[in-house]
Amino acid sequence: MPRIIAIVNQKGGVGKTTTVINVGASLALMGKKVLLVDLDPQGNLSAGLNVAPELIQEKNAYNALVGQMRLLDTIVETSVENLFVVPSDSNLAGAEIELVDVERREFRLKDSLSAELDYFDFIMIDCPPSLGLLTLNALSAATHYLVPLQSEFFALQGLTNILRTTELVKKHFNPPLEEEGILLTMFDGRSNLSKQVYQEMRQFAGDRLFATVIPRRVRLAESTSFGKPGVVYD
Ligand code: ATP
Ligand code: MG
Repeated sequence: MPRIIAIVNQKGGVGKTTTVINVGASLALMGKKVLLVDLDPQGNLSAGLNVAPELIQEKNAYNALVGQMRLLDTIVETSVENLFVVPSDSNLAGAEIELVDVERREFRLKDSLSAELDYFDFIMIDCPPSLGLLTLNALSAATHYLVPLQSEFFALQGLTNILRTTELVKKHFNPPLEEEGILLTMFDGRSNLSKQVYQEMRQFAGDRLFATVIPRRVRLAESTSFGKPGVVYD
């Protein structure tokens, strides 16, 4: 069975999509079979991997969540070997509303998984910046969750909100859900604030915080506009 990792943080712009693209691409370059799922109606993951808009019309996470398609049938190849993506676009925004009255609405993603997905070593799910129904679907289908946190003042406060949500999901929808870890992103080694946030996090989360921090790098931000993972671009 693949390890299914939901990348969650209800705060916008903390590096969720960048983490999904680059950890995913790194694993693929190591020879692992990796499927990335774009569960954000902003479609940043799909754009960052340069998926053609016509293709997103046809293959789309929306069809697996709201429609009757299996997730397997919504997979698109990327330019990176071993790296695949289930794309999405603004149509997915409707899912939050359309699913309100649907039975097992928190399990639509989980129910769209099938045995053929065992082909993959990893499935990584890019969540939108909210703790709504799309994120609940990701957490209900996942085996693990990973929280990227931007190295800034409100990071700790945001983290306690996410952990409250993941505890609720474990209790009601997905008891075996495990924490993969907490990842500090956009770390600026020259800034006292970044160092202070790191210390605070280490104190709060101990070794649940990854030893590796992701530095702030312009090349990483740039790579998206070239439709390539940063680890391929540079
Ligand atoms: P959203 O909540 O809107 O989906 P997100 O959490 O997915 O946002 P990203 O889109 O990954 O966040 O990153 C936000 C912005 O910060 C993007 O413009 C991205 O290119 C940039 N960025 C992310 N990580 C880094 C980094 N390590 N160094 C420099 N820029 C970064
Ligand atoms: Mg994003």
